[in-house]
Amino acid sequence: MSRKPQEKATLEELRDAIKGALDHRDFYLRYCPTARVCGSRLQARCPIPSHGHSGRGRPSLSVDLVRGLFHCFSRDEGGDAIRFYELMHGVTFAQAVREMASQLGLDGRQLPLAFRAAPDVDTERAEPLDAERLATICERFLAICRAEDQTEGLRYLARRAISPEAARRAGVTYFPRRAYRRVMERLRAEFSLGELQRSGLFNRRAHLTFYRHRLLFPFVVEGRARYLQARAIASGIEPRWHNMRGNVPALYNVDLLNDLASGAVVYLVEGFTDTLTLLTHDFAAVGLVGAGGLKEEWIALLGRFRTIALLDPDQAGRRAVARYREMFSARRLPLTTLFLPSDVNDFFRQRPSAALELALLTEAALDRQEAGEWPPSERTGYNL
Ligand SMILES: [Zn+2]
Repeated sequence: MSRKPQEKATLEELRDAIKGALDHRDFYLRYCPTARVCGSRLQARCPIPSHGHSGRGRPSLSVDLVRGLFHCFSRDEGGDAIRFYELMHGVTFAQAVREMASQLGLDGRQLPLAFRAAPDVDTERAEPLDAERLATICERFLAICRAEDQTEGLRYLARRAISPEAARRAGVTYFPRRAYRRVMERLRAEFSLGELQRSGLFNRRAHLTFYRHRLLFPFVVEGRARYLQARAIASGIEPRWHNMRGNVPALYNVDLLNDLASGAVVYLVEGFTDTLTLLTHDFAAVGLVGAGGLKEEWIALLGRFRTIALLDPDQAGRRAVARYREMFSARRLPLTTLFLPSDVNDFFRQRPSAALELALLTEAALDRQEAGEWPPSERTGYNL
């Protein structure tokens, strides 16, 4: 198999790969077998040879196992695992990286694609792109992916009872893993690497970061896809979500509001799946990223509708709804509240008559709201 020369891993890439692959607990315990581990902290007598500790007295080495950082209190010296290796073996940084990489099975010539595609860890990056350019890149990414086979993505949505029609209307897009290089190369051909990196689509290794996360949910605002989040559909991948750089710019599916008559019922739900579930059944819905994701400046958009907050019936959902009621009422806007026994998607998957039930529950909740019953947020549509 031929390798392109630029794909040879640099020391920095290897260092990042080591940090991603190293089990800090195992690593430090190898050098400090008698260490005491308490929660995410390890304490031991410092074994660093050049420190010349007598081996008596209190343990002076402390390790933060989450971040992998060590500190020797008697010599006031610390650093990461690679620095620790350098000190333990009396080798240079470059030697330490090469030896540790080889011990971890990272051969140093070509890292696994999953490593090379991983998003950059550090947050200090160049200044973000302006919104217009970000939208251009986002839209081209979607168009390039849309030319690829969508079957697996649609199948995943179908298992969640989301129709291809609803997915199409919301612009949900997929690309199979076998198209990864092709998608990456098309983007590289159309945009400068710097711009792709500033958008968050590419990392420092010049790789498309959407490698495990290939089901793309665009945020379309005023007809343009301005941002996207992507989900991993294979099991066991954490985190399950990945996004472009920047902040969520709007309610998900916000453009739907442009097509609705004043006074129409609009559901405010959590997440893409619940939004698409309601769209599948011809309910008008806009989505939040997380229960608490509503921004003050988005409320005005909902002012001319009868808005129903339909968040998950958990603590986060109830707390968010209570806060949203205050935010709406500060603007003299009504917000009707409804809780189902489960999240929206589960409700529709479990109950054949879900659409009819939701319509009836909605009517009842609107009646209560208009009758001024308080506190409606304490009520659930269901007798739980
Ligand atoms: Zn020491």
